[in-house]
Amino acid sequence: MRGFHPCRLSLLLTLLCLWAPGKAFTKTSPLAPEPDWGWVAGCAGSFTRSDFQRIFEGQYLRSGSAPGNIEVLEHSVRIRTAGDVWQEVPFANDGAQASVGAQSKPGALRFWRRASEMAPASAAKPLQGVKIAIDPGHLGGEWARMEERFFQMGKTRPVAEGDLTLSVAKKLKPALEKLGADVTLLRRSDRPVTADRSKTLRPAAEADLSPGFSPDRLRRHSELFFYRISEIRARAQLVNERIKPDMVLCLHFNAEEWGEPDSPQLQPRNHMHALVNGGYSEKELEADDIRSDMLRHVFSRVAEEAIPLCETVVEAMAEETGLPPFTYFSNNVLKVGQSPYLYARNLLANRLYHAPVVFLEPYVMNSQPVWKRVQMGDYSGQKLVDGQMRKSIATEYADGVVEGVARYYRQSRPAR
Ligand SMILES: [Zn+2]
Repeated sequence: MRGFHPCRLSLLLTLLCLWAPGKAFTKTSPLAPEPDWGWVAGCAGSFTRSDFQRIFEGQYLRSGSAPGNIEVLEHSVRIRTAGDVWQEVPFANDGAQASVGAQSKPGALRFWRRASEMAPASAAKPLQGVKIAIDPGHLGGEWARMEERFFQMGKTRPVAEGDLTLSVAKKLKPALEKLGADVTLLRRSDRPVTADRSKTLRPAAEADLSPGFSPDRLRRHSELFFYRISEIRARAQLVNERIKPDMVLCLHFNAEEWGEPDSPQLQPRNHMHALVNGGYSEKELEADDIRSDMLRHVFSRVAEEAIPLCETVVEAMAEETGLPPFTYFSNNVLKVGQSPYLYARNLLANRLYHAPVVFLEPYVMNSQPVWKRVQMGDYSGQKLVDGQMRKSIATEYADGVVEGVARYYRQSRPAR
């Protein structure tokens, strides 16, 4: 399957379960608290109608409209909030750009700062004072098999995505700090951030399944609740309530379908892409928490920072890695921005983190060249790989990200 990424497939299945025929509709997605809609009142006049439509329909909405939940009227947008109460957010007049600018300052909807709002920085320390959270995707270690982000060819070095992302994160932190950034890792080991485990989440997982499930299905669903949903929700709490960063780097490695983890298939294709939040379906917006999260993104104008940031980072990574862009043929994304590497997609992490998120999917772990480079482990300098001198894969990944982040802030902070 093109672009197969088991973690996202499983999440999709979970979401689909919410709307299984014959099951009462659940108003929030799994493990989501009831959203607080208090922020809506402060958004009056923060968008002109044309600006709202351009962003809402161009980046966030795959279905073109969501009339049962969000109605774009002539002078306002109507939003279905808690208990089916509709709230109306008036648009600014078309000539009212100045007041739009004034209301988009950091406040109730955002703690993060745009690069253009930061103090000027020196060329040597372009990241001076930039708060960066690094999210090494997945857990790895003892959880890698459960996460289905693991495979091993015979007795060779196992490939576990969570271990690979952590090794990149540990290289990134000091390199970004050297350029002046204030960096926090969301995890430093394979220890989960969430206090929950699949056992404690079993009742919630059971309530989410349609009747007639097998014990094995319940086990897998409880595990998914733990390593995916509860874990990402715990990381989101760190991001939104403790760290409050200016940007989040979500590190992943992609994969094509590999079959059995103990006799995996290697694939010829290798590629890269990056994701910003967006591309929601009308169905997804029926869940109160998902609709609230999406609208917070729209009204905080996070895409105006996230898209150019993602494009700069992924272009620098393309120069560093030589990877071609991945092309989605599925209908669960929207093409956004100018870069062929960038798409908008509704993932749990990039939806829950209330900051500009750079979600990276370079390298197909089970492609022949990447598998070979993972077997070579980490090393300093360069080694010969398929006739080319290459850095270790973790160093190459980290160097590409550092160059991209530094380039973005050099270009976008005010000049001294
Ligand atoms: Zn991943």
